[in-house]
Amino acid sequence: MNKTASNAPELQIAGALELSPSPERIEVTIRERYGHFIGGKLHDGADDSLFPTTNPATGETLAQVAAATEAEVDKAVKSARAAYTKVWSKMSGAERGKYLYRIARRLQEKGRSIAALETRDNGKPIRETRDVDIPLAAAHFFYYAGWADKLDYAVPGRKVKPLGVAAQVIPWNFPLLMAAWKLAPALATGNTVVLKPAETTPLSAMALVEILQEVGLPPGVVNIVNGAGATGAALVNHPDVDKVAFTGSTGVGRLIMRQIAGTKKKATMELGGKGAQIVFADAALDQAVEGTINGIFFNQGHVCCAGSRLLLEESIADDFLERLKRRVLSLQIGDPLDKNTDVGAINSAEQYATVNRYIEIARKEGADVWQGAACPTPEKGLFVPPTLLMNVQQSDTCVREEIFGPVLSVLTFRTPDEAVKKANDSEYGLAAGVWSEKTSKLFEVAHRLNAGIVWANGYNLFDPASPFGGVRHSGFGREGGMAGLWPYLEVVS
Ligand code: NDP
Repeated sequence: MNKTASNAPELQIAGALELSPSPERIEVTIRERYGHFIGGKLHDGADDSLFPTTNPATGETLAQVAAATEAEVDKAVKSARAAYTKVWSKMSGAERGKYLYRIARRLQEKGRSIAALETRDNGKPIRETRDVDIPLAAAHFFYYAGWADKLDYAVPGRKVKPLGVAAQVIPWNFPLLMAAWKLAPALATGNTVVLKPAETTPLSAMALVEILQEVGLPPGVVNIVNGAGATGAALVNHPDVDKVAFTGSTGVGRLIMRQIAGTKKKATMELGGKGAQIVFADAALDQAVEGTINGIFFNQGHVCCAGSRLLLEESIADDFLERLKRRVLSLQIGDPLDKNTDVGAINSAEQYATVNRYIEIARKEGADVWQGAACPTPEKGLFVPPTLLMNVQQSDTCVREEIFGPVLSVLTFRTPDEAVKKANDSEYGLAAGVWSEKTSKLFEVAHRLNAGIVWANGYNLFDPASPFGGVRHSGFGREGGMAGLWPYLEVVS
């Protein structure tokens, strides 16, 4: 792997500022061992189920975490059922909303330490956990707190009721934020929950447990079971679950859909993506460069809606690529706890191997591989420098498959029709971006793209009031906005 700042030294004149280290110094308490949160109480879990959670930037083991057995999952579902029947479904929306507001406020108050915890467990830069993950998680609780007493307006003219017990399974790329996306609408609508965090990033969910206890959330309304795929499978297959909300890979999403087919369980699937960013010659190029960087190198490209395919209008391709490379050469890669860091660590050894395997496949299929950053890639820890793959074809593996890393495939087009055809030539349909100074072109092209979300002259812009979700193999159902309430409600009249 390339350990130098760039394999294109002629461009290093752009260089970057020499920055002094600026580590986030807030103290973070991490216990030696974590179990599960069931019925409002912490349970140690079984000694023989323990697995380590590590800091991917250093390799340090942060804590031991127990994996929930089927029996423990059953206990969690029973506790969620009891809380639903006896407490939560009977409580007024206004009262439920108060709990959500309290959670949101505590998240804000504890934001800095939870951000530092998340950065250690996940590897993403503190700049992102501090300024994006945690504030957005709080914003989701605030937003859905406001809906809790207004559900009569969620489906105009109709009466609605909650579904019951929701099984929620989330991935490792935005651990706390994904928990917030799942919990806030479920709780606002009167459902109770059993949540399973990802195996490699359980710690922020356990920090959230402290908040749930501090705000006095009634026992059993939220239960959290840790563990890997087997725990997730036990949860989604539990017969007393009414709703499955899954965020993760398309492969596991398909498996879950097969398993729950024929049951009465309702489901939402937020799956993978292969987002296209289309840059027209009439775009504001430097803005589009920023958007491209944000689209693929934010969170090391571990973003389901990442803009991992860049489609450049041929007439500006060379100019744009040069600007893009210069900008990439100003990105700081390294210690995720340093406030200057733009590109942190890959979350796990498994994902690190996957990203590097895809880069090697691209090389073998004929891609020109370009890697760069403002500083050398750290020798220790799981780091992959920002990578551009050029001279690639629509049929290449790197253009078709989700890499889920800081790897951008660059293609060109000559006409808007060609851009749309190339962008839509994917089994996925989660997100896309269009860059042009002509509004009519933005609308025309955006409407023809098969994607759940299309950003115009921007990318990776998130707001709790705005629905998010995919089409085709990127899944179905929406999270965020009023549409995010519907998957947790049943229309009764
Ligand atoms: P996985 O599908 O491997 O895992 C997602 C979650 O499902 C994890 O908690 C995992 O546990 C659990 N799981 C694994 N196997 C099963 C099973 N058989 N039954 C039930 N649960 C199971 O995805 P990743 O964690 O690798 O996340 C990356 C993927 O998520 C990418 O493809 C990405 O695009 C997608 N994603 C989609 C988003 C969206 O909103 N559309 C947002 C974020 C990510 P464990 O981790 O312990 O194995």
